Amino acid sequence: MTRTDAEARALFARLTGQEPTGLWSAPGRVNLIGEHTDYNDGFVFPFAIDFRTVVAVGARDDGRIRVVSTFDEVPVEVPVEVALDDLDALFPARRDEIVEWARYPLGVAWALRAAARDAGVDASASLTGVDLAFSSDVPVGAGLSSSAAIEGATAAALNDIWGLGLDRVTLAQAGRRAENEAVGAPTGIMDQMAALLGESDAGIFLDCRSLEADVVELGFAAAGLELLVIDTRVTHAHSTGGYGERRAACERGAAIMGVPALRDLSVDDLPRAQELMDDVTFRRVRHVVTEDQRVLDAVRTLRANGPRAIGPLLDASHASMRDDFEISVPELDLAVDTARSAGAVGARMTGGGFGGSAIALVDRDLVPDVTAAVEAAFAEAGFAKPHVFTVHPSAGARRDA
Ligand code: ADP
Ligand code: MG
Repeated sequence: MTRTDAEARALFARLTGQEPTGLWSAPGRVNLIGEHTDYNDGFVFPFAIDFRTVVAVGARDDGRIRVVSTFDEVPVEVPVEVALDDLDALFPARRDEIVEWARYPLGVAWALRAAARDAGVDASASLTGVDLAFSSDVPVGAGLSSSAAIEGATAAALNDIWGLGLDRVTLAQAGRRAENEAVGAPTGIMDQMAALLGESDAGIFLDCRSLEADVVELGFAAAGLELLVIDTRVTHAHSTGGYGERRAACERGAAIMGVPALRDLSVDDLPRAQELMDDVTFRRVRHVVTEDQRVLDAVRTLRANGPRAIGPLLDASHASMRDDFEISVPELDLAVDTARSAGAVGARMTGGGFGGSAIALVDRDLVPDVTAAVEAAFAEAGFAKPHVFTVHPSAGARRDA
């Protein structure tokens, strides 16, 4: 039993005085390549990581849902509690009445009830109340999608407890709906798909329009490579600021070009785009269009030539996010540049930007050197000490016990 399993069990016992019915978990994710392409109907290539959010779950007979978490800001003595039948009134209109973290699991419960209704399950009759106790080792706000991990764990647990029989893509969609409408963060579906569909040693090549997902073997270990995460400790919040602005710029760009989404443009359309748009909008568009192409190139290159060959695509992706999309920060640029100088095969910032983590694909033997080089560079620059660790492509949401 992992530490987080034990913590979730202990928290559940403190809340209810009982043993849970079961434990479910879902992973965070690293996006290998394809940033800010998901909400543009484009391509992404994330993998689920070996850091997970665990939930201990038990049914209640009073039709109420209660959530608690070992998450720092949450005093466990005070569960957030709602009647299942009140969820439809709370979300999205009155979501502000719910403390932010609890909107993730309660929002998933709300979205799943709706999905169940759509699938012809009579929600009011069959869905019992439930207690959910969370524990997690996914770093929060580090660009590793702790939000999709808590959504994925909740969705997998409730799907089983409620006997809904919904498929994984539907569960991912419920997670995204929770994040968009119950939390109010305008993110795409990449994170939830990775958290639900991940497999060990594989990435998920996802078409965010059709939701067609290909499981692609990564072969890092066989090639002697490790994927290093450099968490800059600069935190971000998706529900505020630059993320929404970037989204708006993408929608503006698509409207100017007369296409439903930037996915519908190719690199050949860029000269015309440049003529029609202001410079900032154009550069946002250029990032998304070239990034879509880089995802396709990365999957093809990986299949043909193995993981070592994708290094230059990772580097080009970072440059595009730094210069065109302008979502990097000095800490991310330093992490990427230093990792590369110290011998990384390729490196880029990952996640929504404005902080969070960089990734570097590194020869196993060089991991200590790259780590030391990044730490030294951060110290020299007067930045907070970064958190550097390896992640391994792992299984998606599942029942653990
Ligand atoms: P990330 O990049 O980690 O997904 P987000 O801002 O999207 O960052 O989501 C982080 C938020 O998700 C936290 O501030 C909290 O509200 C919620 N959250 C994530 N994991 C947990 C957890 N284990 N317990 C409680 N809340 C969590
Ligand atoms: Mg998130």
